[in-house]
Amino acid sequence: MGRDKPKKPRRPRTPGEIVNALADAYRCSHCHSETGPLVEAVPGIYRLEIQHDDSCPVRRGVLPDLPDLFRAIDAA
Ligand SMILES: [Zn+2]
Repeated sequence: MGRDKPKKPRRPRTPGEIVNALADAYRCSHCHSETGPLVEAVPGIYRLEIQHDDSCPVRRGVLPDLPDLFRAIDAA
């Protein structure tokens, strides 16, 4: 039986670290997508290109990418 130590407070992540974690966690559930480079378009505004397969229904606009985005947010 170990003694429970008080947990060390976690350092708040910077917006860039959060966006990088989100980009790493994003996976399309319909294809083998790859994430393009993460670009800070203007200070504080990031742009991430998701490169879906040509036949992906998300790429064709048939299905939304929102469920995959929520999973990435939860994992990040
Ligand atoms: Zn896809």
